[in-house]
Amino acid sequence: MADAGDAAVDRLIGLMARLPRLGPRSARRAVLTLIRRRESLLDPLAQALADVAATVRECAHCGNIATTELCTICTDPARATGEICVVETVADLWAMERGGAFRGRYHVLGGVLSALDGITPTSLRIPELVARVAEEGTREVILALNATVDGQTTAHYIAGELAPLGASLTSLAKGV
Ligand code: ZN
Repeated sequence: MADAGDAAVDRLIGLMARLPRLGPRSARRAVLTLIRRRESLLDPLAQALADVAATVRECAHCGNIATTELCTICTDPARATGEICVVETVADLWAMERGGAFRGRYHVLGGVLSALDGITPTSLRIPELVARVAEEGTREVILALNATVDGQTTAHYIAGELAPLGASLTSLAKGV
């Protein structure tokens, strides 16, 4: 599977090929482009990767990606604190943000309940969600989980956990 015949370049191609949607062919093309455009692409990309690798973490509050203890959404004073939108993954959070309609804050579960895969409430960030709603006196919780069996089982479970706290619950089942 040697590509360029150079160990360092081959290693880069092998790593790039593991990215979503990039197979070995696209990885080779991407690496060649990077090498040809050293100043405008390769060097800045290497620096950006190093910066993210050194600082990226999970927001301690909502589970979003952050480079400081709390993410930019949790620290944005313009975001409504009384509304929490519950999503499965950071990708779902980003998709909601691109929609631009929601101006509250988020809670990223990190997946959905799945008996088959052994995913239980404590392997997700469900206890943290319940604690947040109780502590913050959240008025409205929007469950934006996927319209899969597991997504809806998770929405149902969360609704049960939050029921005693008196927050209003909206379920926004998203198409699969
Ligand atoms: Zn956050």
